Amino acid sequence: MRKAYELKTEDQIRKMRVAGLLTAKALTAVREAVKPGVTTLELDRIAEKTIRDGGGIPNFQLVPGYHHTICASINSAVVHGIPSNRTLQPGDLLSVDCGAEVDGWNGDSAFSIVVPGLDNELTRQRQTQSDVCEGSLWAGIAALASAKRLNEVGVYIEKYILDRGPYGILEQYVGHGIGRSMHEDPAVFNYAVRDAGPKIQAGLCVAIEPMITAGDQKTFVQDDDWTVETSDGSDGAHWEHSVAVHSRGIWVLTAPDGGAAGLEPYGITPVSLD
Ligand code: MG
Ligand code: MG
Repeated sequence: MRKAYELKTEDQIRKMRVAGLLTAKALTAVREAVKPGVTTLELDRIAEKTIRDGGGIPNFQLVPGYHHTICASINSAVVHGIPSNRTLQPGDLLSVDCGAEVDGWNGDSAFSIVVPGLDNELTRQRQTQSDVCEGSLWAGIAALASAKRLNEVGVYIEKYILDRGPYGILEQYVGHGIGRSMHEDPAVFNYAVRDAGPKIQAGLCVAIEPMITAGDQKTFVQDDDWTVETSDGSDGAHWEHSVAVHSRGIWVLTAPDGGAAGLEPYGITPVSLD
């Protein structure tokens, strides 16, 4: 049985855009601070300060049992890594996930980055993996703009990834609806499923978030009860945007340009609600 979820009005989507842009600002600040020797706890503080200075609440802190603003997942950690005193090393593959709540509305977004300072076969593979994951996110967002049913998004994400290499696509963790809560129905799969899924219609707001490994898709949760780590020790990458569907098109809420650059190769122009 499919659970009900709330379609958002255009006014509500405008409010979600404020939360999305603050999320984007926090992630930009984190990205600019990424360098060898920085700890993930320092990155967490930068994200928290950006969100609070912008009038928002770090919505990850509203998740029961979680006390940080970002998740910072390094190398074989794919998602849900807890910020710590671990320092970034040149060539590490770091994924940062973050969200802000403003006036009761939520944003959620993530990126991966190879920590600068090392150039070898491994770091080039890591960069390619991150690029494939990011590209699959845009393929999924483009599908959202043109498809009729939500689960077509996963078909395009999966195809984009598997056309580019034998990557593993996490199956236990998927994207989600977003709005008054960071996590709402419906689920947004990163792979083909049997069911067509809900109708894509005005007011649907979802976080699309492919998570891929350089090996097998199997993962386990670390003893810290959060960090999702690959079982085979291969590297993980994670990219995410929150996206709104409205009556005239789509708008990527967590991208300052609404997704214009990422969607350009698909011939899709996001439509602002301003
Ligand atoms: Mg996220
Ligand atoms: Mg999410």
